[in-house]
Amino acid sequence: MTIKNLPTTFAELKLVDPIKLALTEAGYTNPTPIQAQAIPPLLEGLDLLGCAQTGTGKTAAFALPILHRLVQSNKKALPRHTRVLVLAPTRELAIQVHESFLTYGKNLKLKFAVVYGGVGQTPQVKALSSGVDVLVATPGRLMDLIEQGFIKLSGLEVFVLDEADRMLDMGFIHDIKKVLKLLPPKRHNLFFSATMPVEIERLANSILVNPVKVEVTPVSSTAEKISQSVMYVDRENKRALLKHILDNQNLTRVIVFSRTKHGANKIVEYLGKGGIISEAIHGNKSQSARQKALENFRSGKIRVLIATDIAARGIDIDDISHVINYDLPNVSEDYVHRIGRTARAGAKGEAISFCDSEEKVFLKDIEKLIGKTIPLIEDQPFHSQVVVESRLLSKGKAKTLIDGRNNRPNNPHRRRPQNNRKKN
Ligand code: AMP
Repeated sequence: MTIKNLPTTFAELKLVDPIKLALTEAGYTNPTPIQAQAIPPLLEGLDLLGCAQTGTGKTAAFALPILHRLVQSNKKALPRHTRVLVLAPTRELAIQVHESFLTYGKNLKLKFAVVYGGVGQTPQVKALSSGVDVLVATPGRLMDLIEQGFIKLSGLEVFVLDEADRMLDMGFIHDIKKVLKLLPPKRHNLFFSATMPVEIERLANSILVNPVKVEVTPVSSTAEKISQSVMYVDRENKRALLKHILDNQNLTRVIVFSRTKHGANKIVEYLGKGGIISEAIHGNKSQSARQKALENFRSGKIRVLIATDIAARGIDIDDISHVINYDLPNVSEDYVHRIGRTARAGAKGEAISFCDSEEKVFLKDIEKLIGKTIPLIEDQPFHSQVVVESRLLSKGKAKTLIDGRNNRPNNPHRRRPQNNRKKN
């Protein structure tokens, strides 16, 4: 398909009227680039390989054609069966994708369900009992329910793997392979990943048949609309610098990224003492505590959310004015995911990163990935000359220093251990 043939309005797409109505009600008029590229081939039933991250409109890119085809085919799911399975790596993403299906499918007579771990399974089992059209699931809970006989995949028509790179990072590869073995061979496959390293390509090739490839906002090109800066600060001054920045009320909705769960809790505590109310979301928090924090943040009840990378992945909240990297991520791609929380749906956004002397090596990696130097702000009360003058530590040394407690040969931030899946 040539670029000039791409649809520029939803009206041009051959979607059934109840879906078009839902889009109008949601306030959408023009498809985003991934939607314009992906929807036409998906409506034809072609397999798709999408290289796109959250914030590009990728959920609607797959949800809309799937809904259209479900309505058109007019089949019915058998009890304990689903016609569509969307696998997502985290509960937050699963909940969000499910909500998107509810929004776009609100005028259709279809049944949607979501299953994820960390909560009781009874309501989920009940929702599945008479069969559903679309099931959104995290891999761990899905396998649990399959093994107990509460869900069967034999009648599956469409399989969607969302955020495949994060799935692999979280150690879900074995669950994914188990799920694949249960799927009927003739099916429609959609595969999304923000990055396409070799192992992801290999997995995609094992699932997809002659896929159409669609790529938007490659991970190495950070959104132009995001104004990025870095501040050199000694580790012990980071929290005071954060408080200083947050005292400015022009920062209306802020996500602060902490590398560790413990660190996130400490930041909440420190800010609280200084009169700034914030909440933390991370893997050690219960599902209801995470949802409550997100809701408070979404509604504007709290201005500041402290998050770890995994917990923040897939969060869909509009109007985030600032992303602050309290710690720089040691996986450069996470930097792009983090700052992508702001400047969504056409808005402007700002990303500020703190960098201490041990993190300079990570800063260098990030700048290499995004292909530009992030401007340094010296005009701040905690500017550190020590960081300016510090020599770049070798990567191995930096990790040992930063991870401190961790002498394991494998870097746990890069590959999540298998038992992480229990949390989903
Ligand atoms: P996603 O990448 O699927 O997480 O979507 C990012 C955000 O963009 C969500 O808040 C969607 O509701 C919103 N969105 C998706 N498609 C459109 C569109 N065509 N027009 C306006 N907003 C959209």
